[in-house]
This record gives sequence, structure tokens and C-alpha cells, in this order.
Amino acid sequence: MEEKLNGIVLGGVNFGDNDKILNVFTLEQGVVSAKIKGVKKAGAKLKFAAEPFCFAEFIFATKGKFRTVTGASLIDSFYSLREDLFKYYCGATVLEYLKKFCREGIVSREIFLLSVESLKKIAYGDNPQSEICLFLINALKISGYALNLEGCFTCNKEIEGRIFFDYVYGGFFCEHCQTADCREINYSTYLALKKINGGETLSSAECVGALRLLDYYLLNKTEEKLNSLKELISLTK
Ligand SMILES: [Zn+2]
Repeated sequence: MEEKLNGIVLGGVNFGDNDKILNVFTLEQGVVSAKIKGVKKAGAKLKFAAEPFCFAEFIFATKGKFRTVTGASLIDSFYSLREDLFKYYCGATVLEYLKKFCREGIVSREIFLLSVESLKKIAYGDNPQSEICLFLINALKISGYALNLEGCFTCNKEIEGRIFFDYVYGGFFCEHCQTADCREINYSTYLALKKINGGETLSSAECVGALRLLDYYLLNKTEEKLNSLKELISLTK
């Protein structure tokens, strides 16, 4: 059987001397794995289709649960991600998020479309850090870990002055409502997250606190560590 699926290559492992087993996140079928033959040979026609970030319409020959890539038409390779270290780690954070949060065979059109849109903006825009914050805020929302950025989690009033965060609720608290489980954060971090969530683009410097908070939240709430996000944060210090 032949299948045509739109997908983004998340990564792959070597198989034999010249082949690879790819992990592809597809619009139609969720994450699938597929063998791609001969791509380690010089001049292989489908070499591009085995590279991480490759967004293409793949043609698979499917036998039961096994897929082999027989063709691919490139839609976007997001090449500029490879020319800038900040863009690279932002893009790699998207792929790592998909690897950790999207299960094999579970279809999620919403997160697929968000990923394509974010990779485009990271690769071709001027504020990759702001785009990766927006990606994480929205992806966490889709995965069921939404941050609550609508004022104090308990009293609902807009927070002024000191501000506290509790990862268990993904919520922010005013000085009056905070509990011993909260940790105090910078007001500028909350403001940056709110602005990004509201559609504003921020400079990379303004995103540092937001990236740290998203990393802290991911690690404690979902127990998933994104190494690329850690690298990005250490670069922006
Ligand atoms: Zn309150």
C-alpha cells in the first residue's frame, strides 16, 4: 500500500550501513517511524528527507506496521535554523517537545500546524526566542498544561507588586494569596509571558525570564527536560 503524508522529520537512527530509521511527525497519522534506504551514500537522492526539520510530503510504502520512504517532495527545510545558534536551539526545542509529548500514532492536527507555523517564524523572523516562548505556551495548552495568565489564581485580581508562581496549578498568585508551595518570581517575567500570550513580540533579552519559567514549569509539572531549551537559556545568560 502507498501512503502520502505531510510530515516533519524529528530525528533518526542509523540502521545497517546506509539506511536510517526516521521518526516523522505527520499531520494525518501523528508520529510514525519509517525506514529510509541508502541515505548515507554520497549523492543519495533522498538524503534531504532524512535530515531533522525536513518538512515534506512523504510517500511511504506501507506493509502492516512497517513503512519505507519511497519518495519525498520538500516543502521547507528551514535551512536558516542551521545558520544561527539561537534559531537552531529554538527550532530544536520544538522538535524535542514533539518527541516527548506526541505519542506514536496519536493524531494532533492542532499541534502539527502550530509546529510548522513556529518553525517558520523561528527560521525566517527576527525574534526566535519570543517565538519559542509562544510555541511552548500554546503547545502546553494543547497538551493539557495551560499556564493561567489571567491575574491571581485565587482572587482573580490583576497582580501588582510581588508575584508568586505555583507549578502544580500553572498559576500566578498575589502576595496576599500566595502559599508556602509558591516561589517568588520577577514581575517582568509574568509581564513578558502575558505580552507574548497576547500576541506581542519581545526582544531576546525580554524573553530570558519567560524561558527560565517555562523550563522550570516543564521540569516540575511534566517531569520532562528539554535539553535544547537548557542550551538556549545558557546562551542567553
Ligand atoms: Zn490573590
